[in-house]
Amino acid sequence: MPTENIQREEMPVDVLFVGAGPACLAGAIRLMQIAADQGRELEVAVIEKGMEVGAHAVSGAVFKPDPLFALFPEALKQGCPIEAEVRGDGLYWLAPNQARRLPYVPRQLRNKGRLIVSLSKLTRWLGEQAEGLGVNIFPGFAGTEVLFAEDGRTVTGVRTDDKGLDKDGNPKANFEPGIDLTARVTVLGEGAAGSLFEQVSSRLDLKRNSRPEQFEAGIKEVIQLPEEASFSSRPLNALHFMGSPLGIYEPGGGFVYEMSQSRVALGLLLGLGYRDPGLDLYDLLLQFKAHPFIHELIKGGKVVEQGARTVNTGGLYTRPRLTSDGLICIGNMAGFHNTPALKGIHLAMHSGLLAAETIAEALSTSDCSQTALQSFEQKVKNSEIQAEMQEGRNVQQALNQKGLGKFFHLGAQYCTRGRGLIDPLPGKPDHRTLQPLVKKPAGSGLSIPEAEQELFVDKSTGVYLSKTTHREDEPCHLEIHDPSLCNTQCLETYGCPCTRFCPGGVYELEEDGSNRPRIRITPSNCLHCKTCVIKDPYANITWHCPEGGDGPKYKAV
Ligand code: SF4
Repeated sequence: MPTENIQREEMPVDVLFVGAGPACLAGAIRLMQIAADQGRELEVAVIEKGMEVGAHAVSGAVFKPDPLFALFPEALKQGCPIEAEVRGDGLYWLAPNQARRLPYVPRQLRNKGRLIVSLSKLTRWLGEQAEGLGVNIFPGFAGTEVLFAEDGRTVTGVRTDDKGLDKDGNPKANFEPGIDLTARVTVLGEGAAGSLFEQVSSRLDLKRNSRPEQFEAGIKEVIQLPEEASFSSRPLNALHFMGSPLGIYEPGGGFVYEMSQSRVALGLLLGLGYRDPGLDLYDLLLQFKAHPFIHELIKGGKVVEQGARTVNTGGLYTRPRLTSDGLICIGNMAGFHNTPALKGIHLAMHSGLLAAETIAEALSTSDCSQTALQSFEQKVKNSEIQAEMQEGRNVQQALNQKGLGKFFHLGAQYCTRGRGLIDPLPGKPDHRTLQPLVKKPAGSGLSIPEAEQELFVDKSTGVYLSKTTHREDEPCHLEIHDPSLCNTQCLETYGCPCTRFCPGGVYELEEDGSNRPRIRITPSNCLHCKTCVIKDPYANITWHCPEGGDGPKYKAV
């Protein structure tokens, strides 16, 4: 039975937020606070594809808490979960066997007094506050389609996922059709490379005047340390690293942050404008951990959670148009990120606050057209968001430059507060930066002693530690448009880089008896990081949102 003809329930609300990340939750909370101040009743809903709020938020981040305190001046007394306060920053250059602490920390990376949070716990707490104010949160509901009015341009809501389809997309006995959540304003805040955002952006041409988006992919871990190795007595508890294993040519770096209960958050980020198709993100993480300086920090530890995500780091010039009729775009999905500071949660939340103020004004005049909502763009321009994004407007494009020239660009940008040598500095889409593979990737070559197997976990254990699950007989959510490209052009030119950049090991080459290996995919391992959609050199992969509730279940245990 084709699902297009199914009768669907319609649920109207005033405002619908898509994605229960910090941006949407901050927006929903602010909207309810404004409505309460004005004595108005509002129906506000948030849908979230994760099984619960926070399930898709990867833990461990330094957070500038201003927007949190704008919402809840007494947030800490109210129990907002904080892992630690930053006592001191360390910025290090890693050579293969040594580490050198740099004497100067760039102003954007000075974090003393800021908070280290588990994003998963923070969003869960924000979700509870939102529900306390009357917001309806629907976890386990993925948005699969943006709904438009008859004019084909006005956004009227979102259709949620059908549950209980078989592998071929046919309804099973326990089939439950998705519902049409309609709203006067729909706020998209799905996180980097959002699927609904791509739909709406191509229909409404939201990226027409934007430069190509740029992304970073990161794998993060929460590591339980022995008590005596806890960071709680270290004066420097937010550490950033450049250099090995990436060297100076490829963009990225690592971090280690203190967390509560003798834990640390550790991660490696790789700018997806990288050139070498032989790079393996997971191997790089293992090499980073095995560096003598990092190893000394974490030895005796055990990985208790692992996750992966991409972040939109392209900056100001890559930001899309943020509004349309019935639509506002917020959060990292819409490019709100301070790249030189390696931070975006505060900007995402701030964008949510400004969206809420815009929507409250629009609802009070009963005009939710773009003409009314575009004051959001002006509010952003007049806010401190803009000042931060101005300063970082060319940074990812500089990091992606070839060779040592990047350091001249970065230095000039630092001295001129963003302008640098060329403004705007051009950048290519990340899927177009790979060079042909010259030699077969050798792998990390690390041999992990038996005693350290819980500290250096392999990819499949990492997926297990992310608690990722997908229903085995649901339709495959990864669409490879032309499979023949994989074992011909892509194999010959780039050696199938998806087998290395995917942190979940979803793409593997297998022999099928013919003279060419072919790609086999295991979608149930997918961590929903979106790296494959962004980096595949032929843009041959589409990621469809799987059934709501699937994917990782991060908790920062
Ligand atoms: Fe990430 Fe794509 Fe791999 Fe899923 S399949 S984990 S989205 S790279």
